[in-house]
Amino acid sequence: MKAMVLQEISAIENEPLRMMDLPNPVPGSKKILIKVSACGVCHTELDEIEGRIQPKLPIVLGHEIVGRVESLGSGATRFNLGDRVGIAWINSACGKCHFCQEGNENLCLEFKGTGCHVNGGYAEYTTVSEDFAYFIPERFSDSEATPLLCAGAIGYRDLRLSGIRKGQALGLFGFGASAHIVIQVAKYWGCEAFVFTRSEEHRNLAERLGATWTGGPEDEPPKKIDCAIDFTPVGETVLNALRVLEKGGRLVIAVIRKRNPIPSLDYARLLWDEKEIKSVANITRKDLDDFLPLASEIPILPEVQEFKLEEANKALVLLKQGKIQGAAALRMPG
Ligand SMILES: [Zn+2]
Ligand SMILES: [Zn+2]
Repeated sequence: MKAMVLQEISAIENEPLRMMDLPNPVPGSKKILIKVSACGVCHTELDEIEGRIQPKLPIVLGHEIVGRVESLGSGATRFNLGDRVGIAWINSACGKCHFCQEGNENLCLEFKGTGCHVNGGYAEYTTVSEDFAYFIPERFSDSEATPLLCAGAIGYRDLRLSGIRKGQALGLFGFGASAHIVIQVAKYWGCEAFVFTRSEEHRNLAERLGATWTGGPEDEPPKKIDCAIDFTPVGETVLNALRVLEKGGRLVIAVIRKRNPIPSLDYARLLWDEKEIKSVANITRKDLDDFLPLASEIPILPEVQEFKLEEANKALVLLKQGKIQGAAALRMPG
């Protein structure tokens, strides 16, 4: 099969992903083989490529995978051949530790990420345990469904963990793949969205999707924000968000890694008054089981820019430069 493979850590500008011919994977016990139709391109892949998180090498990246079941491993019974399924960032968890037992499998010590610890979807085929695959709602095309699997589902987790309630003001810092879905859920829940981003194109998209107000990261919104989500890779955003956060408000940091440290924080001015900062780590299967039907019900309208598999480096460079509108996805040949 054709696959875009990362062999060593490098700046994305060096185009480190190489097209290679790999043997088709064979599904083991309770696993399914999936013929990939489309795979989303996520900011986490930049962190892997550039070494802010360490993937197993060599690795086939990609954790927003939509495809069809091509064959079943022994004992796999949940899906039929030809079913359209998705694979997300959570590839496996132990199922036995106290995190797993309490529904926090995202924190499992043996958590494995798709396209990080095991090969993912920048390829024509991939395999996954049938317990970690999801039916894709009919309403979405293959490419449209890809950002729902990470940007959307983790965005939904961010939103839930922000504690936002109906009628409240939500601040979104950065307006990429995740935020452009989160704003649609927040509006559906009757919240107002205030969007902070340097990109004029992203502000325009936010306004089209119903933002109450848009501005730059240092701008003053017309009122204080009850809950905020920080999707940006820069440390300074944390201070900007705390500055406009209402007393008792919570800031959720949605990224796995920041490119630079969070600057020192003036406690009295920025954090006192019972403000909270919370990070989000990974995702659970329940997040996906809850979010995918909700995305169909709303319905979320994902904005997706398509690239060919061999254009993965280009898509990632554009993502790093903030030049993708909505989400990016790779279409497989055939
Ligand atoms: Zn992702
Ligand atoms: Zn566990």
